[in-house]
Amino acid sequence: MSISENLKNIKSKIPNHVTLVAVSKTKPVSDLMEAYNAGQRIFGENKIQEMVEKYEAMPKDIEWHMIGHVQRNKVKYMANFVRLIHGVDNFKLLKEINKQAKKHDRIIDCLFQIKIASENSKFGMSAKDASEILQSNDFSELQNIRITGLMGMATFTNDINQVEKEFKLLKTVFENLKILKTKNCKLETISMGMSSDYKLAIDCGSNMIRVGSSIFGERNL
Ligand SMILES: *Cc1c(COP(=O)(O)O)cnc(C)c1O
Repeated sequence: MSISENLKNIKSKIPNHVTLVAVSKTKPVSDLMEAYNAGQRIFGENKIQEMVEKYEAMPKDIEWHMIGHVQRNKVKYMANFVRLIHGVDNFKLLKEINKQAKKHDRIIDCLFQIKIASENSKFGMSAKDASEILQSNDFSELQNIRITGLMGMATFTNDINQVEKEFKLLKTVFENLKILKTKNCKLETISMGMSSDYKLAIDCGSNMIRVGSSIFGERNL
């Protein structure tokens, strides 16, 4: 099936309250343009340099999401346009995002990446870390970022019971932290679910899914 057919197919299967991030990493601009012409406006990339190049080449009404691990020294390259950073997992990074956002007189929305997978290779902070940051004075002083939700990645496994357990854990963490409403924190988004498990993720409370290969085909890079 074509990219536009894939998109249409996925959109017909997800409820209205779920935001679809089209994960276009490694794919050429021509593929992204096919999705754009089919109406897609939210794209997710996992490398800053690649996202910057695509941002420069493409129409300016696109929302660019950084879904990968972010190195602090590269935040400056995307601070003028990035719409949502999914993978924030430490306070030093958040401070840098705040600093760079300020230079552009912007407020950048961020999600805290929570470690829900059992593998120790996955990035992310604990629920306790997230809670401590959100209640700290240092955090309250950051005026150019906003924490709008949580992101999680389940263990890479065929065991759907384990994946379900991890998704439910993220939903629970979300419900517990949601009560911490401050000027720069209002949790609304749960970013979880990819091509192989987005249906399960939605059943477990996700309202933002990050789908790549089911839209653009397998990646060979
Ligand atoms: C690549 C990637 C996805 C999309 O994966 P697919 O299995 O191709 O849908 C989602 N989230 C993150 C963080 C990714 O790096």
